[in-house]
Amino acid sequence: MDFKLTDEQRLFQTAVRSFCEREIKPYAAEVDETGRLRREALAKMPDLGLVGLQVPEDYGGANFDSISSALAMEELGRACGSTGLSLEAHNELCCMPIVRWGTEDQKGRFLPRLTSGEVLGSLALTEPDSGSDLMGTQTRAVKDGGEWVINGAKVWITNASLAPVIVTLCKTEKDAGSRSFSLILIETDRAGVTIAPPLPKMGTHGSPAHMLTFSDVRVPLDNLLGQEGRGLYMVLETLDSGRIAVGALCVGLAQAAFEEAVRYSTERRAFGKTLADHQAIQFKLADMATQIEAGRLLVYRAAWAKDQGEPYSKLASMAKLFTSEACERAAFEALQIHGGYGYSREFPLERIYRDQRMMSIGEGTSEINRMVIARRLLEEAGA
Ligand SMILES: Cc1cc2nc3c(=O)[nH]c(=O)nc-3n(C[C@H](O)[C@H](O)[C@H](O)COP(=O)(O)OP(=O)(O)OC[C@H]3O[C@@H](n4cnc5c(N)ncnc54)[C@H](O)[C@@H]3O)c2cc1C
Repeated sequence: MDFKLTDEQRLFQTAVRSFCEREIKPYAAEVDETGRLRREALAKMPDLGLVGLQVPEDYGGANFDSISSALAMEELGRACGSTGLSLEAHNELCCMPIVRWGTEDQKGRFLPRLTSGEVLGSLALTEPDSGSDLMGTQTRAVKDGGEWVINGAKVWITNASLAPVIVTLCKTEKDAGSRSFSLILIETDRAGVTIAPPLPKMGTHGSPAHMLTFSDVRVPLDNLLGQEGRGLYMVLETLDSGRIAVGALCVGLAQAAFEEAVRYSTERRAFGKTLADHQAIQFKLADMATQIEAGRLLVYRAAWAKDQGEPYSKLASMAKLFTSEACERAAFEALQIHGGYGYSREFPLERIYRDQRMMSIGEGTSEINRMVIARRLLEEAGA
């Protein structure tokens, strides 16, 4: 067993950290206030491979392993929750399904643009009446001659207004159970696609999430991604991998909260000494650091299993569940350590606290991840 990163992974981590310190972290408050990601930073991301983390080099990506991708997500999360979330959705939810199941033609059509740093991609699963229960998907795709005709609505779709293409879960068969669904690539400039303004939300303000409607949208039959009827299975595999990345993002957010807590508690004085000199505050810092380290190890463990070609669904859900809840605790305690200033917009904690809150909701709520873990545990037990 070796807990050391490879030299390559360490160098990459250092490069991403210094990029984030320079190009992302100083602008995180502005991104939150304006509700817009920093396009200048996005444009520089292809140089580091951040917009095509696991996309093959032939299509403009960096072809990194899952551990390197997790390192990048942690650094992005540490610098800015909005940027981290949008980059996670772009890499894991849009690029990866195309890498995994796209034909050569689809990869050639979509990936070079997606890795250009000019756009970000999306995955559309959630609908107004179904989120966790994807079997409730109502968006319908019907064949008509050489085209799919798509009608329906999606909600909470991250990056939709920045995306040239949206990987969309559609119902393609009426009564085929879990085989009723397929993934279809829908270009956003097709007639009948309407993207509403960004939804007002609690945090991650710079990462736009939208309601979409599809009204008789026509795309060629060969915009089908992978096999017809396999959509739900492909989504579950996509989410397994995405949960490692969300876990890494949570570690980054928790790390940011922790670093702010250390900084503040070593400067602020109360009862004749710094806050950090009080044992009650030291215990909070110790608990935060321990949970961050445990979360980071779970993320690396899941990423490592994925890179080895081992089953990793349970580990990915464990990593996402644990880190999203540890991140919430870290943000809570870090804000508490800041006292009234923690509640002020003048300090980053208020933003981090809002940004982290969605991490136990998106890409499988904590409840759904507990269900996944329990199902896998019971399968392993032969139950
Ligand atoms: C900022 C943000 C960005 C998002 N980005 C995207 C995106 O890019 N693409 C996309 O498709 N979606 C996206 N989502 C949607 C997200 O994936 C869903 O919100 C999430 O899957 C939960 O679905 P829901 O909101 O419909 O809640 P519901 O499924 O209605 O669940 C409500 C509550 O009930 C619980 N629950 C549901 N079923 C069970 C059960 N069987 N047992 C116990 N508890 C249960 C849930 O855990 C939750 O607590 C985003 C959401 C947010 C907030």
